[in-house]
Amino acid sequence: MKVIALKFENYRNLNDDIITPHEGVNIIYGDNAQGKTNLLEALWLFCGGHSFRGSKDNELIKWDKNYARLEMRFYGQEREQKAKITFNGRQKKIEINGIEKKSTASMIEKYCAVVFSPEHLSLIKRGPSERRKFIDSAICREKLQNAVILSKYNRILSQRNSLLKDISKRPSLEETLSIWDEPLIKNGAMLIKKRIEYTEMLSAKASEYHTGISQGKEKLETKYISTTNALQNDTVEEIEKKLRKKFEENRAEDIKTGVTNAGPHRDDIEILINGKSTRQYASQGQQRSAVLSLKLAEAGVLRERMGEEPVILLDDVLSELDAGRQNYLINELKGCQVFITCCEQSNKELLKDGKVYYLDKGVIS
Ligand code: ATP
Ligand code: MG
Repeated sequence: MKVIALKFENYRNLNDDIITPHEGVNIIYGDNAQGKTNLLEALWLFCGGHSFRGSKDNELIKWDKNYARLEMRFYGQEREQKAKITFNGRQKKIEINGIEKKSTASMIEKYCAVVFSPEHLSLIKRGPSERRKFIDSAICREKLQNAVILSKYNRILSQRNSLLKDISKRPSLEETLSIWDEPLIKNGAMLIKKRIEYTEMLSAKASEYHTGISQGKEKLETKYISTTNALQNDTVEEIEKKLRKKFEENRAEDIKTGVTNAGPHRDDIEILINGKSTRQYASQGQQRSAVLSLKLAEAGVLRERMGEEPVILLDDVLSELDAGRQNYLINELKGCQVFITCCEQSNKELLKDGKVYYLDKGVIS
């Protein structure tokens, strides 16, 4: 997958323009607040129409305008394609190869990218929910069916939890608990299985990237930690049995606390460098390298599934990395199109082959 051209109109602080990126590495540099992340965000928006910064649609429109439009020509599925998104405050209009589409989901099948931004460091720095979110969004992107399983699990879980709270007031309700337990076990086991499979694929690839970034100095491991003792080779049926047993064991505790104390909603992903927890022991540069390796691995999994190399968008990754690690990211991610933003002019000198964009108050040169 390669972006051939990107045109923007009334978008954020960027001056209306067209860029024709290099098919390899593109460095976007400039001072703070010039529009570097805005440009990267524009390249990401074609993945489904949502900002990776959690911005609302109308925040994408230039302040004094009433619509914003992005147009892209890209190479994917072995042909040149076109996509257009228009944000007009109320809704977005999507056009792919000249045909208007009803949903943003149709874009996901055509164009794919992976983004790293400094906020993704929360994957290591914050609690388990961030890591579950990362894995869940990856598996949902892989298959719509996974999104259905996840949403069913979450819905049943919240129903079970409200029943648990009611039981403390009306103990006779306890017998209705099993109504929720079985569907929760079924969907929960499928969810755990998908997550374990995905973590396994991710772990192998992330480990390879991390070896490259750290020039062989560090070993990265990623493991799924299940609160129900589900193991890598367990079948869905075996995981169901373990979940059922755990729910039975925890029943009194669940009623006492009014919440479901074990299950995939309490699981975690352990990220280790040289056998030690990255959250507790890794340096800033190591944490950044680990998250980057995970993100690049996410791109690797997508590549296998879609048969396409996703576009790699790296926002502000180079700070805190030593020269060897910077060089790896700028010159060694072969075969894919990469966009890297940075503030320091010196980074562009590291680039062996590619294009450099300079951003100054929304003007690209
Ligand atoms: P940094 O190096 O600090 O990350 P950056 O170059 O990535 O900076 P951006 O996040 O791209 O900066 O933002 C550039 C500017 O765009 C911000 O100062 C912001 O005020 C401006 N901006 C954001 N949204 C809009 C909008 N809808 N209309 C006009 N300007 C906007
Ligand atoms: Mg930025």
